[in-house]
Formats: sequence, structure tokens, C-alpha cells
Amino acid sequence: MRALCWRGRKDVAVERVPDPQILNPRDAIIRITTTAICGSDLHLYDGYIPTMQAGDILGHEFMGEVVETGRDVTNLKKGDRVVVPFTMACGGCFFCKKQFYSLCDNSNPKAEIAEAVYGYSGSGLFGYSHMLGGFAGGQAEFVRVPFADVGPIKVPDHLPDEQVLFLSDIFPTGYMAAENCSIEPGDTVAVWGCGPVGLFAIKSAFLLGAQRVIGIDSVEGRLKKARELCGAETVNFEHVDLLRTLDEMTAGRGPDSCIDAVGLEAHGNGIAGFYDRIKTATYMATDRPTALRMAIMACRKGGTVSIPGVYGGLLDKLPMGAAFAKGLTFKMGQTHVHKYLKPLMARIEKGDIDPSFVITHRYNLSHAAEAYKEFSTQQDECVKVVLKP
Ligand SMILES: [Zn+2]
Ligand SMILES: [Zn+2]
Repeated sequence: MRALCWRGRKDVAVERVPDPQILNPRDAIIRITTTAICGSDLHLYDGYIPTMQAGDILGHEFMGEVVETGRDVTNLKKGDRVVVPFTMACGGCFFCKKQFYSLCDNSNPKAEIAEAVYGYSGSGLFGYSHMLGGFAGGQAEFVRVPFADVGPIKVPDHLPDEQVLFLSDIFPTGYMAAENCSIEPGDTVAVWGCGPVGLFAIKSAFLLGAQRVIGIDSVEGRLKKARELCGAETVNFEHVDLLRTLDEMTAGRGPDSCIDAVGLEAHGNGIAGFYDRIKTATYMATDRPTALRMAIMACRKGGTVSIPGVYGGLLDKLPMGAAFAKGLTFKMGQTHVHKYLKPLMARIEKGDIDPSFVITHRYNLSHAAEAYKEFSTQQDECVKVVLKP
């Protein structure tokens, strides 16, 4: 089959590779019909994530048609259309039973690397380095899906791929970020970062009853999307005193909740980077948790700071004093995608939201290398890329 392979820093290419095979009784093989490039794929592209190997197949946002199932997969059959969560979960461990699917204890066969750094490992992920399982991703013609009896959700015939594809990651990720804010009617929610996850967080905050949502970014093309497609008020933080502006916009009280959809992602902080940075004085001078610091400082007393943005290491100069004094609640972590598949599919079917609004570019899989280049250099125009094999 053809697949988009990582070859090294800023070097990806569509190559001929062996077709995936059923390895375990709970596996399924999916023929990919639509897949997407995620912002977090750029950190692999830029070479920041350790434990990548030349030839690794990328991609964790994908959907397609079941072509083969292992003997224990009784819920799916050949021909079913499915969307697959980017996190892998066994469905039966202590954490899966609590619906903490992205913290599954059984889906990362290389857990020791994460355990060495964090004490414990989260779940395995598709197409995201060997420390997160070394699983082949879905920017390909076919993919092997482990725990296929638990993860994939069937798609009703009348819904096109582009409306349901983002159930694999960014829609549940934005939704969980908003849900973590415990929004009450009349609330104002501020969202740092108007990339795809930020845009879904804005839409989700409205779905959950927020009265006002304020989108914050420095990229005008993204602020425009937040305003025109998601109904947010927007602030370009490079043009104003952000804290003062938010204070004025909320009658001196501050937003009821603040979502950091930036994280350290934009700077590609990997675990190796994290070790390096601890060892160097430059780490102490870094201002990379800027969005999080601002979110903490801006949030109203008794409010919630929700963090879907990814952090990798030890953060410097976080205003914990302010967080304590204001009695803030923090919620964060990798999305428990499995938990949101059914309710969010129902939202799409009801017409509450059409997630395809976020797509700006479409490419054939053969041109995936060009698509990565475009996505990594044209942030203003290029918000979300889908690939068709
Ligand atoms: Zn993603
Ligand atoms: Zn599990």
C-alpha cells in the first residue's frame, strides 16, 4: 500500500510499504477513506518528538471502511464505515472502567519510556513515535486498529466523511476542554489559541451554554474564523494589553473559565527537549507557558482553567500564588475520546454542529508531503488539511 512515512526532520514522503495484517484477535484492518493532518503532527515533522524511526507511518485522525476483523471483534463487520479514536483503549482496565480512556494501562507496549519520565504511561497513540507505542498511523491506504472491539464508532450512511472525521480527535478534544469548564448559563469563556482545537472549544462552549466566548490569538486568519464561523469575540494579544482588555470585557471580574488550547505544542517540546531544557539555563528563561500564565492571571475568582494544550515537562514561573489566592480549579489531559464518540455523533446527526467547517485544504494522499509543507508554513490560511487516499 501507499503510506506517508517519516524519514527525518522536515522530510516525509509517500512510500510503498507492506499492507498491515491482523496481529491480535481484537484487531481490525481499515481501508482509509479520509484522514487529516493534525497540528501535533507538525512536531513529528519538525523533528522534535523523540523515538521516531525512519519509515514510521504518520497520522492519528482517520476513518474508513472495515476490510478484515480478528476473531474477537464481533461488533464490526466487513464494509462498516467507522471513525477511529486517536487514543487506544482496552476497555477493561481500571482506568478504562472509569472512562479515563486516554489513561488506559494496556495499550502502550512501550510504557517504560513514559514511566521513566512521568512515573506512569498514558495510552498508546496511532502514528506518534515509539514511546507512545510505535503504532503505524492512518495517513495511508490501510491501517491496523488494535482493540477494534472498543474504539471505532460506526458512521450512519447519510453522514459524509468530512462531517464525522474529526470525532477521531479535535472535536472531542475541544469539547472536553469546554466540558471541563463546568459552564453555567451566562458564563463568559476565554479561549487561548484559535487553531482547530481552539475553534472546536469555542463551538463547544456555546453548545454547553456559554453566553460569550472570547477567542485569543495573534494570527488574523484564525481570529477571523473564530469570529465568523464560531461566533466568538476576538482579541489579538499582540495588539493590546491582554489582561486589561479581558478585565474590561468582563466588567472587571475576569472570564468565568479560561481554556489554554496552545500548550507547548507550537514549540514542539519533546521529552528529549524537556531533559535538555532542565539541564540548560535557557530553560529557566523560557516564556513558553505564556498562554497558561495568562489564563491563570485572567481567570475570575473561583473559576476554572482548562488545558487541552499539550505540556511535556517542568514549567517555569507559573503564578501558583494567584491560582491559590483566587481558588481556581485546573482540569487537563489527553482526551478520553471514546467517551465522547456517541454523544458527539448524536450532536452531528441532530445538526447542532457540522465539524467540516474547520477544513481549509484538501489533498490527495500522493501529495501529502506538499500538504505538510503548506500546513507548516501557511498558518494564516491553512487551518486544517484533509487527505484522501
Ligand atoms: Zn490530533
Ligand atoms: Zn484500558
